[in-house]
Amino acid sequence: MVSRVIPVDPFDLVIFGATGDLARRKIIPGLFHRFVVGQMQPAARIIGAARSETTQEAFVQLIRDSLEEFAPKAAEQGPEIAAFLETLRYVRVDAVGDAGWRELGQHLRPDALRAFYLSVSPTLFGAIADNLNAHGLATPESRIVVEKPFGHDLASARALNADLRRGFDEGQIYRIDHYLGKETVQNLMVLRFANSLWEPLWNSTHIDHVQITVAESLGVEGRGEYYDRSGAMRDMVQNHLMQLLCLTAMEPPSRFTPDAVRDEKVKVIEALDPVEPSHIVRGQYRAGNGEGGYRDHANDPQTLTESFVAMKVNIGNWRWAGTPFYLRTGKKLRARTSEIAIMFRDPPHMIFPKMEGRRGNALIIRLQPDEGITLRTTIKEPGPGGMRMAEVSLDMTFAEALGADAEAQDAYERLVMDVIRGDQTLFMRGDEVEAAWAWVDPIIRRWEEDRQAPAPYDPGSSGPEDALMLLHRDGRRWR
Ligand code: NAP
Repeated sequence: MVSRVIPVDPFDLVIFGATGDLARRKIIPGLFHRFVVGQMQPAARIIGAARSETTQEAFVQLIRDSLEEFAPKAAEQGPEIAAFLETLRYVRVDAVGDAGWRELGQHLRPDALRAFYLSVSPTLFGAIADNLNAHGLATPESRIVVEKPFGHDLASARALNADLRRGFDEGQIYRIDHYLGKETVQNLMVLRFANSLWEPLWNSTHIDHVQITVAESLGVEGRGEYYDRSGAMRDMVQNHLMQLLCLTAMEPPSRFTPDAVRDEKVKVIEALDPVEPSHIVRGQYRAGNGEGGYRDHANDPQTLTESFVAMKVNIGNWRWAGTPFYLRTGKKLRARTSEIAIMFRDPPHMIFPKMEGRRGNALIIRLQPDEGITLRTTIKEPGPGGMRMAEVSLDMTFAEALGADAEAQDAYERLVMDVIRGDQTLFMRGDEVEAAWAWVDPIIRRWEEDRQAPAPYDPGSSGPEDALMLLHRDGRRWR
């Protein structure tokens, strides 16, 4: 199945931090893919801005090398690469100084849409937003895109919002959570709101509980000292897992507009009950399999930062009262998996013989690997010999069902094009981010006061034993 590509109007996209890891690995290769399929036109400009004294030629070479490394099919696309590289400019700009701003202005065309992508440390957001305005580079139509982490707690998130709002309206600010750009995450909304099948079942009468898992098999090697200042709660739960929870739990918006969708997500966050301490498990992976543990990677033998969190969350509203959401995320776990599992209640009265090991109906929304949706159902085991039952999966892997197109788009490709189109649906609104921090902050504060060490777990395991107990206590188990 080939999707229809509608070209976007020519734009000037300034990437602050264009020589950095994220720009070279994700943003620019994503733009290249959109260029190859014709969505980004040759008249668009990508203006790389960073602090280094780099020539235009050296910047173009850097991006050529990045495409070869990170855009898998780029090597076969010689003519497209050459045309794409023509759209690049480099300007040396110091975010916190005066250098480069005037020259940057000379690259911006009066009639093209302007977007400023801040792929730099959040400590530079305020200075860049101020400089863009002070030098008259931001127009009322301009967009500004910022990367995670958006704050370290509620106070710092508020300060970042204030920094950005000095020069930009909320309607111009695009806060990226790349999870929202994933195909399956958007499909969750379509699955729920474009089908009549699920919505009547989507409540505590029919759903026993929900499990949201984002597990990584890698540790924090290489970025341990950076990660140690955040931990799993700040790095994953406050943003990615809460976004998945919101999309799963929200009420149907009245229409598919950015604010209607985001209003409903904020209501979910505001309905979250405070989490009881006994409903949270923190973990830290220990050394094993010949590799160092978290503390070695963090370079701090005493660190109390968690590399794993599991928690039971209750949503205090009519739809979800009595249906807990179990969240878990961690590093150095058995497999790299991200999924939302909707676990349905058993039939109220079973007329068939008891089936050993029956797990019941489940709808699994897989984000990775193999994005897709699986529905676990019970059927009769084929053949004679009485009424024996078996559980089978109705499986829809997008790549198989929809062809290579389903796999091809990276979240960043979609999100950058949404910025250009002016669609904020998949970006976090300021009040949403603040609401998420307001819920997470007391949990982190309590940990900081208690100063208890996270439970150790083995690399390659499913996390600490206590995380299994979190469900066992309720007569449930993780998938
Ligand atoms: P990085 O590799 O360290 O790159 C930082 C970029 O910022 C470089 O291009 C650097 O240019 C530029 N820069 C630094 N100080 C500057 C200044 N005063 N004025 C202008 N430019 C300046 O960082 P990154 O990994 O790309 O991450 C960028 C942002 O994205 C961070 O906020 C990070 O948390 C976030 N993020 C990254 C990832 C990822 O996978 N990398 C994922 C999610 C979010 P020079 O080298 O010329 O100094």
